[in-house]
Amino acid sequence: MDHKVTVVTVEDEFRICPACGYEDGFHSMFKRDNGGVKWLFICPACHNIFDIGQRLKEPFGDP
Ligand SMILES: [Zn+2]
Repeated sequence: MDHKVTVVTVEDEFRICPACGYEDGFHSMFKRDNGGVKWLFICPACHNIFDIGQRLKEPFGDP
């Protein structure tokens, strides 16, 4: 399943869904992407996926 990811610029907070107006925050998902992992957010109400520019670097855990 490959949903469209909407890129969002965060001002003070990212809590309200820009697509449907749901106000109670997001589920998280992680997607492997060119040597890192993107940290994406899914609206629990409309299921749109948002990218606010967060990314995790591998390897995880102790260096
Ligand atoms: Zn929504």
